[in-house]
Amino acid sequence: MTCMVLLGLVVTAQTPAIDGKAIDWKAQESEILRHYSALVQIDSSNPPGNETAVVNYLKKVFDAEGIPAQVFALDPARANLVARIKGNGKKRPILIMAHTDVVGIQREKWPVDPFGAIRKEGYIWGRGTVDDKDKLAANLMVMLLLKRSGAKLDRDVIFLAESGEEGTTAPGIEFMVNQHFSQIEAEYCLTEGGGAILSSGRVTAVTVSTTEKLPRRIRLVVNGTSGHGSVPRTDNALVHLSTAVTKIGTWETPLRLNDTTRTYFERLAGMSPPESAARYNGITDPARTAAIQRYLAENEPMHYSMLRTSVVPTILKAGFRMNVIPSEAEATIDVRMAPGEDPNAFLAQMQRQIGDAAVKIERLTDGERPPTPPSRLDTEMFRALEIVGKRMYPGSVTLPTMLTGATDMAFLRAKGIQSYGIGPASSDADRTNYGAHSDVERLLESSLYSFARFTWEAVLEVSASKPSK
Ligand SMILES: [Zn+2]
Repeated sequence: MTCMVLLGLVVTAQTPAIDGKAIDWKAQESEILRHYSALVQIDSSNPPGNETAVVNYLKKVFDAEGIPAQVFALDPARANLVARIKGNGKKRPILIMAHTDVVGIQREKWPVDPFGAIRKEGYIWGRGTVDDKDKLAANLMVMLLLKRSGAKLDRDVIFLAESGEEGTTAPGIEFMVNQHFSQIEAEYCLTEGGGAILSSGRVTAVTVSTTEKLPRRIRLVVNGTSGHGSVPRTDNALVHLSTAVTKIGTWETPLRLNDTTRTYFERLAGMSPPESAARYNGITDPARTAAIQRYLAENEPMHYSMLRTSVVPTILKAGFRMNVIPSEAEATIDVRMAPGEDPNAFLAQMQRQIGDAAVKIERLTDGERPPTPPSRLDTEMFRALEIVGKRMYPGSVTLPTMLTGATDMAFLRAKGIQSYGIGPASSDADRTNYGAHSDVERLLESSLYSFARFTWEAVLEVSASKPSK
């Protein structure tokens, strides 16, 4: 077996580096950091996005490496980039995707330059460090290493850098799915939406998102008679509206589990202390479910939301003068439907819950995404993520999760691509205080490197040609 050494990368000529051992990961760190820092340093705050600046950086790197990369733009300032490493076509492609835009910042809240990619206290600080330039840099490295190692692949590996994920999907994922789907068509997709849970320096769980709730926002509208504030009216729009808001805001919507959430709570129980384990195991126990759900609502709101369609009032609008009864009052409600929920039936149920014909429910269409079934847990891809998780983080559990928020995976799942959300390891405290969209975002530097490796191993696990015996 001949060995070749290539840019600090040791690979065997016949067998691809399927277990990652052939890659000297220590030697890759400086390059991973260089690309990651450069990507964080490009201010792609959305709005306006300016994602083309990121695409230009990526295109240069791919061109220098001889990896074919194509740019697709609906809006010239908001381009997307697709690159592809060819396999032998035995299996359908895998898509590794990351978005190039970031959410905006309030500069005064940052102790460091938000676009500085400053290294401090073992972390790299900056907007986009965990959302989503970590995935972007990891995916980029996977492509570079695939090219340099000459790994033999049974499937194409497609890289997509997409614009507009943060609330403006038209020039990004929607454009790619609707206009250029053949460029990104794949059996599997890996993208943001998961992570690994670090506790006392050890990864205890790898989370892989396989489904997400569906935003289906509504507005409650009440029309009443306007009049003088000194004369009470039974049709006061404010009174009807606030009663309705209270009713649906405190409504415990029906329990709705799916394969992902069932497995999630089962596995979570397996790794939790006895008291919590009993709770996770008792969710569907008729005798205990009411008390358990109350506990979750108060103490673990994310888990409570994972169990159901959630109804959260977010905006109230009514009135303009102290002594005038307004003729109209309205409330915006952020409804997140559990997969499989029938929107019409649910809203009819909500109308009964409100029990007041004066309150009209209007559907809003902004931010709607196509409904899709969860990605499956019995695929080669999900199994690969479990294998790699166990290999890289011995003793860890793989938790399939349902995101309460929405991602661009919805558009891919709607096209039949089994899509899985992954991410780097972080502690609870870091996720709470320095996570995606928070005032200050940062990533543990060591997690960046282990995540690049995790992505590489997961991609190879499902793509590398097995040596014929
Ligand atoms: Zn993101």
